[in-house]
Amino acid sequence: KLSARLQAVADFIPKGFKLADIGSDHAYLPCYVVKKGKVPFAIAGEVVEGPFQSALNQVTEEELSEQISVRKGNGLEVIEVNEVDCITIAGMGGALISNILEAGKEKLSNVKRLILQPNISAISIREWLLQNDWELVNEKILEEDGKIYEVLVAEQGNPHQSYTNELHKGLLLGPFLMKEKNNVFIKKWQDEKRNWERILSQLAEANGSEEVQSKIMELKEKITMVEEVLGN
Ligand code: SAM
Repeated sequence: KLSARLQAVADFIPKGFKLADIGSDHAYLPCYVVKKGKVPFAIAGEVVEGPFQSALNQVTEEELSEQISVRKGNGLEVIEVNEVDCITIAGMGGALISNILEAGKEKLSNVKRLILQPNISAISIREWLLQNDWELVNEKILEEDGKIYEVLVAEQGNPHQSYTNELHKGLLLGPFLMKEKNNVFIKKWQDEKRNWERILSQLAEANGSEEVQSKIMELKEKITMVEEVLGN
């Protein structure tokens, strides 16, 4: 059984799609979807030796070596153009996920779907998708063991399609998530807002250099955006 977080990622993989899971660690996700018969072939990519060995062991133990290729390398360098239909990158920061996509752009030409699960800074991913002609087609937010996770799903298309005129709010909060506005979403942004207000009150006491002033402005804008979406 997968964690709720990885299950949410798995649920977005279309049946029959060939998969690359980048930063796979134990390769739990590819093993699960291959065993379920959802995916005919998967690549598990890992850049660090320890996790790479864990992935190899797991795949061998589950006797899935014919369907899962475990490869050591940085980001998308472990896949060839045309090899997979779908890429998952989960359990890292949004900035790192965006860097991996940016560095491996030329591998994405025939990829149909990206499923990305940032632990923080989903905004970095939404910005990267927007600038690179990937259309956000779905999002999910969930809580597990006291932590809140977001899952972003993108396909090649019109990157502006999913955003209304409220682009800045959408990039920060997620266009699908702010429409749905479920309890986890409300909790996440109430927490963020409280945190920003605390920083703001500390900054207000600091000397008003230009840098501090612009940080104060930025925080106030973000607080306003969140208040507008949450309706308080
Ligand atoms: N994807 C799994 C999950 O969501 O449970 C594992 C997440 S683990 C916290 C992040 C993994 O990404 C680590 O095993 C790390 O070695 C790997 N990683 C980090 N940067 C990477 C990169 N540039 N290329 C491949 N793997 C990377």
